[in-house]
Amino acid sequence: MVQQNCALCERSDFTVVYQENFDLQLLDEKIFSARRLPDRIHYRIVRCNRCGLIYSNPILEVEKINALYRKSFVSYDAHVENLVRTYGHYLRQVARYHAEKGRLLEIGCGSGFFLAEARRQGYVEVYGVEPGEKSVEKAPAEIRARILVDVIRPGLFPDGYFDVICCFQTLDHLPDPNAVVASCHKLLKPNGVVLFFNHNVGAWSAKLLGRASPIIDIEHTYLYDTRTMRAMFEKHGFTVREVKSAFNIHNLSHWVRLFPMPNKVKLAILRVLEKMGLDVRVKMFAGNLVLYGQK
Ligand SMILES: [Zn+2]
Repeated sequence: MVQQNCALCERSDFTVVYQENFDLQLLDEKIFSARRLPDRIHYRIVRCNRCGLIYSNPILEVEKINALYRKSFVSYDAHVENLVRTYGHYLRQVARYHAEKGRLLEIGCGSGFFLAEARRQGYVEVYGVEPGEKSVEKAPAEIRARILVDVIRPGLFPDGYFDVICCFQTLDHLPDPNAVVASCHKLLKPNGVVLFFNHNVGAWSAKLLGRASPIIDIEHTYLYDTRTMRAMFEKHGFTVREVKSAFNIHNLSHWVRLFPMPNKVKLAILRVLEKMGLDVRVKMFAGNLVLYGQK
């Protein structure tokens, strides 16, 4: 295990929020596949005494985390259409700050469904970076050819290469977010835009659910709210144009699965939804945030 510093202040001055709730010996790659069933585990969660950033501390060695992600597999099959609607909406808003639809990069692109959406929206060249090889194999051939099986790191692309860099539900998984946000700044053209979408630890749902919130999870190394998110991007030279609560579109059955309640109750509700044909799409501001930053 390694001690983490606050990613914003680079200092180790914290208060424990929750003690860890698992035995390290039991870690395997299944734990690192998002969207697995409940029984969530988490590291010890702490809050920086200076800036309020929430983070996991200590965590596994970076090499071990990366190895687990390489083996993990995230299947979004059932949700892809809704995720495309959600992320596609936020991509369209990029035009407020940067009109050029040249090159777009997605960090943590999974099977590339968002890259396909970016193409539909008119982006000429799309690129993805994704460590999970099995997820990349799921991508359609012409999208797969645009994905590097890797983690974002210096040297993958030339500096000043991209108009837009997107990252969905990934920042809070990174052991070294500073390196990634700094890379984004380097990789963007002048006036280029980052679009980041991730959990909001300051959201009503996180506050209401506390430790039972799905975001208190071993996959999350850092957890941001709108204030610490802004600070992270300003630290690396971005002008933050907007940072705010974001909605998600999910089928009702998916919202039910996310909600912390006994599995028995969940299954009963899911059966009713299915039987009565009530599994409709629902748009909700349920605990994510979106940030637009400009170089
Ligand atoms: Zn701090």
